[in-house]
Amino acid sequence: MLKQCTLNKAISVTGIGLHSGKKVSVNFKPAPKNTGLVYRRTDLEPNVEFKCTADAVRDTQLCTALVNDAGVRISTIEHLQAALFALGIDNLFIEVNAPEVPIMDGSAYPFVYLLSQVGVKQLSAPKQFIKVTKPVRVEDGEKWAMVEPSSKGLQMDLTIDFKHPAMDPDKQHISIDFSGQLFRSDIASARTFCFLQDVEYMHAHNLALGGSLDNAVVLDDYRVLNNDGLRYEDEFVKHKLLDCIGDLYMSNKVLLGKFSAYKTGHHLNNQMIRELLAHPECYEIKTFNDEELSNVFGTPIDFIHSVAVNA
Ligand SMILES: [Zn+2]
Repeated sequence: MLKQCTLNKAISVTGIGLHSGKKVSVNFKPAPKNTGLVYRRTDLEPNVEFKCTADAVRDTQLCTALVNDAGVRISTIEHLQAALFALGIDNLFIEVNAPEVPIMDGSAYPFVYLLSQVGVKQLSAPKQFIKVTKPVRVEDGEKWAMVEPSSKGLQMDLTIDFKHPAMDPDKQHISIDFSGQLFRSDIASARTFCFLQDVEYMHAHNLALGGSLDNAVVLDDYRVLNNDGLRYEDEFVKHKLLDCIGDLYMSNKVLLGKFSAYKTGHHLNNQMIRELLAHPECYEIKTFNDEELSNVFGTPIDFIHSVAVNA
């Protein structure tokens, strides 16, 4: 039986908030089985909790935010969500002393690195999967995202289409069979990217005050402005894939199926996961015993965990 996991022990990190530009601290604390991923705003008295669900995602303008009925939010959670998915963490308290999770370097790698330092621990409840049994597709103009059944764990196929001198048209498609190891080595470090004119506009409107070359790839009309250039030749599409992984994990369950998308973003990804969950005939909630798992994944533990697991 593949079991739910949480962190081995508590750990903290400090970084800059993308929107405020201010210092933000996060405490990651182990949580019991069946708790899920719970964000907690500790700057508010009393503290406000947000359980991570696809329905709680209510703002996808510049990032993914969870917003409660009173309009209180916790923003910029998508890269952390991708890291939690790749580390196989099902249950965790994430205490943040601000309205947003720090942007770190604009990728998921700092979270993967940090949480790997303490490792994960198995709990006694079975891990839950959403196995896609019929295709579900959502569209927005020419953009689309879909899931369909697959016998190979989580497959992902993503195409972006930017026409820009610094964005190679041959490096705007990616197709992977997801694994925790692949995520760590090939995807986690891909940074978010933006265009200089957008940065200037946002700063003029008091938005993304913490945004800089330290936490994004910035392009002017011709080139990448970061001195060190790109981390991967296809960093742009890899970052979009990272975003998709984080967005799909808002359900707090591991998707089994093939995800494909064209020019998708946070909003469409969230629409797709909501559409899937709204159609119970299109999926099954599964848990796996060891024999089933090895049939589905080959080496089951590698599918999700890229760190040592303590029983
Ligand atoms: Zn992103």
